[in-house]
Amino acid sequence: MNISLFNTGKYVDLEQHKEPAFSAPLSSVPIRELAYVPLRDLYGGQMYPVARRGDRCARFSLLARTKTPSNELGPSWLMAPLSGYVEEITTIEHPIFGRSFCAVIRPDNSVPPLPTTPHSLNAMTREGVLRTIHQAGIIDEFDGQPLIEKILQARSDGIREVAAIALDDSPYISSALKTVSEFGSEVSDGITVVLKALDGGSAKLAIYDCDEIAVKPDIDHFGFVKPIRMRGGFPLISKFKRQYYPKGNFLPIGVQALRSAAQALVRGLPQTNSIITVSGECVKHPCNAVVVNGTTIEDVLRFVGVNKLPRYVILGDTMTGITVTDIKTPVTAGMRAITVMHAIPRREKTSCIRCGKCVTVCPMDLPVYEAIRRHERGEIDKAAGYGAQHCTGCGACSAVCPSAIEVADIMRHLKKISRRKQKQAPDQSN
Ligand code: SF4
Ligand code: SF4
Repeated sequence: MNISLFNTGKYVDLEQHKEPAFSAPLSSVPIRELAYVPLRDLYGGQMYPVARRGDRCARFSLLARTKTPSNELGPSWLMAPLSGYVEEITTIEHPIFGRSFCAVIRPDNSVPPLPTTPHSLNAMTREGVLRTIHQAGIIDEFDGQPLIEKILQARSDGIREVAAIALDDSPYISSALKTVSEFGSEVSDGITVVLKALDGGSAKLAIYDCDEIAVKPDIDHFGFVKPIRMRGGFPLISKFKRQYYPKGNFLPIGVQALRSAAQALVRGLPQTNSIITVSGECVKHPCNAVVVNGTTIEDVLRFVGVNKLPRYVILGDTMTGITVTDIKTPVTAGMRAITVMHAIPRREKTSCIRCGKCVTVCPMDLPVYEAIRRHERGEIDKAAGYGAQHCTGCGACSAVCPSAIEVADIMRHLKKISRRKQKQAPDQSN
């Protein structure tokens, strides 16, 4: 495969275009010929195939596993997302995983029975919940992190608050709203599951609120969870955090990951598919679709139809996604959108698009993008006041910035200014 990537964050389109995809019925994308399933564990580490070339694998049977434990709960397993024959085990270049082993599966379109009888949420033990979520291989679409890792970290930090995130604030994405609309009770069960793993606590649902979409059922009544409607500019997660958890003592989890947690506990299902918004100006029939892991983007585009020359095929959306040039690229767990554009309005290469990625990855929990915005306006002293003295210089913010801003360099510069001001402060008081 020949995939080359470039950031798309420098292109933005702030108009909302959710309605056509949201209004269409939820559909399933068929795999035409072959599925390409990257053999990567939750942490992006290499897995080793259990199924061999020529084997028939049943959906939910063991496809690959790690040789060593991935965490305190043991090795990771990868379950086959579909039934079929393993044509070969090969290597591919994947935009997220890099060079990776991959099982190429030819579907036989059989649908085996579900693996277990339903379990009762009331009968769960905390250890059982943790082990099941680990084995289900759930990636949180909110931030691309393994759900089990987030829960283990939250436990060790003493966090007891969960926020279900359905903040589809990106222009073309409505997959979280569709998930809440279609599978509200499973999302609610997923919150119960995670609270069990955290030994209790409470939860909120943060949901994007816009006039063009009416989420059903009435979101004012969402089980035992308090729904919070959020309006405003991108990224709404920062506003939500400031308003409801200013100390950052909560665990944000995407609604699809919560649904997957419920499915793992109640029905014994691993996470083998995602609900993906397929949209953009080149898509003939925008929709939200269930896409099995390993389905190629080519199959997804064939399903929705293309009515204009697609110049940008973006995993994610126009705000923060990455562009792929090989439509044989497979969809993997944790994706929530494919956006296909003919042209995208440009912005200055180095302007901050307020995506909030730098805030999300910052290990010191600094309001990085606030500092960058002030810095861009030339308000250097104010910019240095956003906790720059605590910056460790790890560089994570620069690595994820879709606008290619050297965020860490700016933060280091602000750190020096902040330290200098701190040293001057006692002198001035004398
Ligand atoms: S370099 Fe500083 S601001 Fe950037 S992620 Fe690391 S600690 Fe946070
Ligand atoms: S500086 Fe932060 S908020 Fe701005 S574009 Fe870069 S990652 Fe996104």
